[in-house]
Amino acid sequence: MPVLELHDVRKTYPGEPPVESVRGVSLAVEPGEMLAITGASGSGKSTLLNLMSALDRPTEGSVRLDGQPVEALRDRELAGLRAHRVGVVFQQFFLLEALNAVDNVAQGLLYRGVPAGTRRAAAEAALHQVGLGHRVRHRVTKLSGGERQRVAIARAVVGRPAIVFADEPTGNLDSATGKEIMALIGELNQGGVTMVIVTHEPAVAGACHRHVMMRDGRLVG
Ligand code: ADP
Ligand code: MG
Repeated sequence: MPVLELHDVRKTYPGEPPVESVRGVSLAVEPGEMLAITGASGSGKSTLLNLMSALDRPTEGSVRLDGQPVEALRDRELAGLRAHRVGVVFQQFFLLEALNAVDNVAQGLLYRGVPAGTRRAAAEAALHQVGLGHRVRHRVTKLSGGERQRVAIARAVVGRPAIVFADEPTGNLDSATGKEIMALIGELNQGGVTMVIVTHEPAVAGACHRHVMMRDGRLVG
């Protein structure tokens, strides 16, 4: 069964005139896949990512995430689905600057009802997994961009989600560091993590198994 299934998904933002950001997207992501979504700025990639990651509900069509129909869930159920089954990585990392690396990663388990000690142990293990075993107690403000993105990736995978979404994960990194981050993402995928990556960098898309392109709210090949 696919981890993620979109059927004729549409998203229209109200306004004068309304903006049809996503206009009929159908797509399935199988367990273990590493999928790239590319497209020009304004083509609807972030809107689609919000729909795929259960941050938002479609105006029309269906999104089935880990077997759950997103459009039919209540707010609390959506929040639960996100907390338990989805990991996200952003271009801007979005780490808590007052905290050290391990406490940032432990945040990924905050809404799971896991005791603090267990959260910490899992967070440390995740930091080792992303090559930051020597930075566990460093404040994130002391880390390089590549290291910060590794912390964010550890936070995304620490709860063993069904799927991880990344929005331009290398967008704020120099090309050498970006390559290292893609190598890490590739390793995690080899280890079984299903990945969907939005990018406009051809090298990032090339590192993925499958590549679809968005144009004007639709998938084109
Ligand atoms: P991309 O990520 O590919 O740059 P977006 O999904 O951010 O594209 O945007 C697609 C279109 O939807 C754009 O025309 C954008 O202005 C519009 N849009 C995005 N979010 C909103 C919103 N919250 N309200 C109204 N329009 C939006
Ligand atoms: Mg975007």
